[in-house]
Amino acid sequence: MSDLDAFMDEGGTAPRIVRKECSTALSPSRLPGLDLALNPYTRCAHACTYCYAPYIMRVPPHQWGADIQAKVNIARLLSRELGRKRGVVGLGTVTDPYQPAEARLHLTRRCLEEMVHAGSSVSLLTKSDLVVRDIDLLKRMASAEVGITINTSIDSRAAVFEPGAPPPSKRLKAVRALVDAGIGTYVFLGPVIPTITDADLDGLISSLIETRVRSVMIDRLNLRPGMEERMRAAMSERSPSTLEEFLSMVDDDRFYEDIIAYLKRALADGGIVVSDAF
Ligand code: SF4
Repeated sequence: MSDLDAFMDEGGTAPRIVRKECSTALSPSRLPGLDLALNPYTRCAHACTYCYAPYIMRVPPHQWGADIQAKVNIARLLSRELGRKRGVVGLGTVTDPYQPAEARLHLTRRCLEEMVHAGSSVSLLTKSDLVVRDIDLLKRMASAEVGITINTSIDSRAAVFEPGAPPPSKRLKAVRALVDAGIGTYVFLGPVIPTITDADLDGLISSLIETRVRSVMIDRLNLRPGMEERMRAAMSERSPSTLEEFLSMVDDDRFYEDIIAYLKRALADGGIVVSDAF
């Protein structure tokens, strides 16, 4: 039995992993700076309450963190497609390529190996420190850019809406490891969320400056249908004492304008180039 078969048979409390044979590895991408999209998994066990991907993938948002589909043949398809599809590959445009299953399945790692072989350029975004495992491959890419999402420096606040993701304390260490390895690294500071991002704003700013990252991209929370209700439920369960404050600010444009202006000034003072997302 292979590692993959053993992992899929384990069951337990983690989301079920479903084997999927895909017919294409690379698809065209319209995201800025990307030519192609590569997603080794469908759905995401990080299960962020504010995730926009279910709306793009037409999956009911409450099912997004369950029944993760692992595209078990993706690296083999990729090796064939890279010869005729050229450009910057966005790795993980509608999933996290380093969600928990990746620690055992190595689908993302196998894709990176193919891209190293083909001389490809890659840009990826993750919430997991598991990306550090693949620094050896990222250093060998023609060009590699890694974004790590961090919207608070307080682990307990991150857990309110990102129940399945590694805590920001680990992500900050990963940013530092990537920077020290010479990988092009940025922090995606988003979405900015009331009672989460502003819980210790100066602590977040100093933590980011300490990583020596040179680039931060900021985005506000953009509510989609049903999202506020799911966020309300998550906060009622995990942080009821801040629910009222959250609800008073979640729709307040002034909150987002002020906090983003403050972040931009303070991060720029720390020598970081700040940009708006997309
Ligand atoms: S890590 Fe990204 S893709 Fe995964 S649930 Fe969170 S926002 Fe969605």
